[in-house]
Amino acid sequence: MQRILLLLTLLIILTCSFTAVAHAQTQSEYVAIAFNDKLVHFPDAMPEVVKGVTYLPVRFFAEAMGARVEYNAANETVRIDSGSQHVLIDIPHKKITTADGVTTSFPLFMKKNRLMVPFRFIGETFGYDVSYTPHGPIARAKDSRARLTDEEVYSANKQIILAEKAKLPDKIAYVTFDDGPNQYTAQILDTLARYEAKATFFMLKGGIDNYPAQVKRMAQSGHGLALHGVTHNASQIYASPWAVVNEMEACNAALTRVTGLRTNMVRVPYGSKPWMTQSYRDALVNAGYRMWDWTVDSYDSRSINPHPDDIVQEVADQTAGQTAPVILLHDRQATLEALPRILQHLQQKKYELRPLQGSMKPHNFWNDRR
Ligand SMILES: [Zn+2]
Repeated sequence: MQRILLLLTLLIILTCSFTAVAHAQTQSEYVAIAFNDKLVHFPDAMPEVVKGVTYLPVRFFAEAMGARVEYNAANETVRIDSGSQHVLIDIPHKKITTADGVTTSFPLFMKKNRLMVPFRFIGETFGYDVSYTPHGPIARAKDSRARLTDEEVYSANKQIILAEKAKLPDKIAYVTFDDGPNQYTAQILDTLARYEAKATFFMLKGGIDNYPAQVKRMAQSGHGLALHGVTHNASQIYASPWAVVNEMEACNAALTRVTGLRTNMVRVPYGSKPWMTQSYRDALVNAGYRMWDWTVDSYDSRSINPHPDDIVQEVADQTAGQTAPVILLHDRQATLEALPRILQHLQQKKYELRPLQGSMKPHNFWNDRR
């Protein structure tokens, strides 16, 4: 029994640490890596910039430095040795310890089965000068053997860099579902999984209470978890600023009971205009929430029996020309039928399909970006 518990715990630790940042990268997150005068080649997972920090697959960079890399499967650690320096990377605990015994935490993540580590920290730990040039951009580690300037490294490799960057999508679409979860949500999640797409669910408290398994599945699959209130009744939820906050708090409490998580993302029923005037928005912001509307309305909730073809067409028409559309859909039959074609269309148009995140500045009809 204890052994099963231990295995379960380990599984949870591994799952939690690896699902968090699993997403495909866009062009704005591209970065080339140079070691002295040469570009480092990465055969599968590419380096990327996450919140201003360059991460790269540690193995290929370590090899470029001429370092030795050892993976210890028993305790999930990677040790890199070069000269008198070494680092020990503890993957489950996301910590790196240097030869002098100093341990630092980093948001390490896996990408295409490669361990992604912060480039600057590794480069400087092993005694290299680390520089960054916006051309490319290129992040470079160098020592006295380097002959070229950063600009010359870029010029010499410009064609390769442009070709690699062009392989990445340059647009993101945020697919969102309101009013669930309900009897359609399981199949919506199946479809999203089939297209490796992430979405965001603005959920009602009743749905969370009635379909906890689907809510857990959303959380485990890396979809965005968000709130849509309790009553979905304009005369009740907009009765006062506090009524809005109270509904979102009750909805959040239901989410926490099911997943252990809280969210700060809300979408108020029927959209935030005209009801969410200044005092309403202030109350929501003061309670820690960020209010989202949409930039694309699929009109899938405008009639009792919408046609899937019309939903697909609306999304295609309205999305055209937008680089970061927020697309309004609902958990219902016609939308479920339209969904494969919506996702195919967006992917053909080179949109990366990602969840909204609590750290993002919200888009809403009031341009209130708090
Ligand atoms: Zn709604």
